[in-house]
Amino acid sequence: MDIMSLPAPPPPKVPNIAQRYKGICPLCRKPHRIHTVLMVSGYVFCYHCILSEIRKNKRCPVTHYPAKEDDLIRLYIE
Ligand SMILES: [Zn+2]
Repeated sequence: MDIMSLPAPPPPKVPNIAQRYKGICPLCRKPHRIHTVLMVSGYVFCYHCILSEIRKNKRCPVTHYPAKEDDLIRLYIE
C-alpha cells in the first residue's frame, strides 16, 4: 500500500490559549517584532523576547516544554 495515497489527517485543533495570542507575542503582548517560532511548541514570539526567556528558563513560556536556543526559527513572513 502506498502511504501517500491515504487522505491527510486533519490538522491539530488550535488550543484556546493559542487563540488568545493570535497576532501578538505571548511575552510582551504586543505585535511581533522579528517573528520567531519556538519549534517545540509552535508558538510565535518576538526574537528578543523569546531569546532571553529561553536563555533564562530553557522552556517554552506558554507550554513549559523544554527548549533551547537551537529550537528558535526565524519566520520570513513580512
Ligand atoms: Zn515580544
